[in-house]
Amino acid sequence: SPYLLKGQKAIVTGASSGIGEAIARYLALSGAAVAINYHSEAEEAEKIVDDIRANNGEAFAIQADVSKEDQVKAMFQQTLQNFGTIDILVNNAGLQKDSPFVDMTLDQWNTVIGVNLTGQFLCAREAAKEFLRRGVQPQISSAAGKIICMSSVHQVIPWAGHVNYATSKGGIDMMMQSIAQELAPHKIRVNSIAPGAIKTPINKSAWDTPQDEAKLLQLIPAKRVGEVEDIAKAAVWLASDDSDYVNGTTLFVDGGMTLYPGFTNNG
Ligand code: NAD
Repeated sequence: SPYLLKGQKAIVTGASSGIGEAIARYLALSGAAVAINYHSEAEEAEKIVDDIRANNGEAFAIQADVSKEDQVKAMFQQTLQNFGTIDILVNNAGLQKDSPFVDMTLDQWNTVIGVNLTGQFLCAREAAKEFLRRGVQPQISSAAGKIICMSSVHQVIPWAGHVNYATSKGGIDMMMQSIAQELAPHKIRVNSIAPGAIKTPINKSAWDTPQDEAKLLQLIPAKRVGEVEDIAKAAVWLASDDSDYVNGTTLFVDGGMTLYPGFTNNG
């Protein structure tokens, strides 16, 4: 509905592609003004802004590396200047630097932890400061603010060859719950979405050929690879007052990937 998030202001990190792009578009369709954070894809980000404006929505693009404290602070300052305040943070930016464990470099480890975990910490902290400063605006939302962390099924499923990534997502779970516990009395809600396998650039090699897709489907009881819209719809719900009593939880949007599908025909 174009009214669900009417009057609300959002930041979506890593919004120039994939899941972040879809979330930004869906938040805008639901009435929120959206800051489209990107790391290096300025053209893609501007195209999304143009599309949103063409639909009578409000958006602007803003460059920042979420792993850099000064850049995150500047991004929030700029967004507050443009929008006046913010109500919704979607901590979506993330990447993989895959390697067999014994060959993993410290740089591969630090880069993934820096973007996926520290990046979410930095953005959550800036958002929370503004939520606490402003408090609840009852005509806008029953919450003083909402933070949605993009986790992964790999916050619970160990992942050989991706130790840095799985660790970052496990960390997001405990960070999200601890922030939620600390800020709940201030009417701030903090939740995660844990996607299963969603068709985006990050995992193209896993679904690109029919053989790859068939192999991937063995892990998915729903027998389809997820689409970015599956995640965007969950994000709109978690950002809206429809989920007002949901706090500190992870919503798995994974077609059943976390149901141990290997046990399906096991006696
Ligand atoms: P994607 O590669 O399209 O999106 C990731 C985005 O993060 C990109 O736009 C990238 O530019 C941005 N980014 C990377 N480093 C950044 C930085 N330092 N600062 C700001 N932005 C940065 O892939 P996606 O699948 O859309 O991933 C989005 C999120 O969803 C990630 O956190 C990812 O871990 C998570 N996720 C994806 C899947 C999946 O199957 N696609 C599954 C589970 C979790």
